[in-house]
Amino acid sequence: MKAHDGMYIDGAWRPAAGRDTIEVVNPVDEQVIGQVPAGTAEDVDAAVRSARAAFPGWAATAPAERAARLSALRDVLAARKDEIAETVTAELGAPLAFSQAVHAGVPVLVAGSYAELAATYAFEEKVGNSTVYQEPVGVVGAITPWNYPLHQIVAKVAPALAAGCTVVLKPAEDTPLTAQLFAEAVAEAGVPAGVFNLVTGLGPVAGQALAEHPDVDLVSFTGSTAVGRRIGATAGAAVKRVALELGGKSANVILPSADLAKAVNVGVANVMSNSGQTCSAWTRMLVPAERYDEAVELAAAAAEKYGDRIGPVVNAKQRDRVRGYIEKGVAEGARLVAGGPESPRDQGYFVSPTVFADVTERMTIAQEEIFGPVLSILRYEDTEDALRIANGTVYGLAGAVWAGEESEAVAFARRLDTGQVDINGGRFNPLAPFGGYKQSGVGRELGAHGLSEYLQTKSLQF
Ligand code: NAD
Repeated sequence: MKAHDGMYIDGAWRPAAGRDTIEVVNPVDEQVIGQVPAGTAEDVDAAVRSARAAFPGWAATAPAERAARLSALRDVLAARKDEIAETVTAELGAPLAFSQAVHAGVPVLVAGSYAELAATYAFEEKVGNSTVYQEPVGVVGAITPWNYPLHQIVAKVAPALAAGCTVVLKPAEDTPLTAQLFAEAVAEAGVPAGVFNLVTGLGPVAGQALAEHPDVDLVSFTGSTAVGRRIGATAGAAVKRVALELGGKSANVILPSADLAKAVNVGVANVMSNSGQTCSAWTRMLVPAERYDEAVELAAAAAEKYGDRIGPVVNAKQRDRVRGYIEKGVAEGARLVAGGPESPRDQGYFVSPTVFADVTERMTIAQEEIFGPVLSILRYEDTEDALRIANGTVYGLAGAVWAGEESEAVAFARRLDTGQVDINGGRFNPLAPFGGYKQSGVGRELGAHGLSEYLQTKSLQF
């Protein structure tokens, strides 16, 4: 795999300030596939200065010009789709077909959506005797996780650029090669020097330096709730804008009138996809008591079909963490009906697709985010019971509701404390706002709502 040994700052690959590096490991065979520099506060400072210097010029460009750069970026991402998919597969371990369709495919859609929004968004409006302007917030510090390495980057950088902001990105340490490819794509798209900058490095070093940098105006973070809480506190103390996309423990509520087989099969596929490393995965399946046994049987059969066809999890630490949760589920009395803590292969960070039945609300596996291919099936007595269980975690990122009639599912979904709900298997919409209620986060990504995160409002009275 190709790896740059520098940081992308002010439009060029520049040597890092220090000598430390991060090894990139393929989770399928545990082989080192590349090395990138581990950035320091000095690198972050150089990148922020470059973004600050580029800000006035980029903020002043016409929205049509920003739209043209984003269209070019979309085209480069589309043209380099195969290379992107191969890189994601090499550093994340996702099966190639999934990398092609999702990891490489979705960012093309999202970049395209912001090319269009930059051209059409109302950055100016009349309100009575006032003109209200939507102006870019300034320099954005973007910190992203490894689970959807390119999507998480594009979901921040594309709207930031559309708004007229400049960016310093600190990607996850497990997937920096995809981030370097993205930097190449930005350069190829003709985005001016300094508008986008990349510093690879460790979270507690480079990430923290970026989150704490006094000349960053907005920190946009996607990752764990624990780190997000710290970043939120730092931003609060500095009175600076912050967007937090954090963890989830979403409920898949199957109402009694639903097509049970469809709801269970789609639900299992949702959890196993990306080896369970999806923040919005529906990891709690809620089934009416009278259909519980049937649902458990269907889910176990569906999970068995995956065998070891799903990819590994990202690293050894995650594998051990997920296995620890499976062991905890068994210890707390849940019933394993598929998978288990044993690794299905001798090599690689693989976890068996796992399904637990007889999970009760207070169990650890029903409350904490596992971030692996593990589904918990819970029983409910009536609709109010289902609602109470569904809303009974600190999270509120996503969810699903299944019912015979769409209107019944919608009525239930409106009572869920969560930011997104798929009705009867509704499709992904790159324009729909994505983000959490409760401890799943603050702010929204994607579409016009995602763009507005990077804008601040000024009104002139006449
Ligand atoms: P993480 O919080 O450990 O890391 C995320 C990013 O933050 C990485 O770039 C990391 O280097 C950086 N980081 C770590 N410590 C930091 C610090 N002290 N200061 C600044 N930056 C720091 O999370 P992870 O393990 O990489 O990702 C998994 C988590 O992300 C899960 O909880 C998952 O639900 C969440 N996630 C949420 C969304 C969402 O949109 N809500 C999407 C994907 C992942």
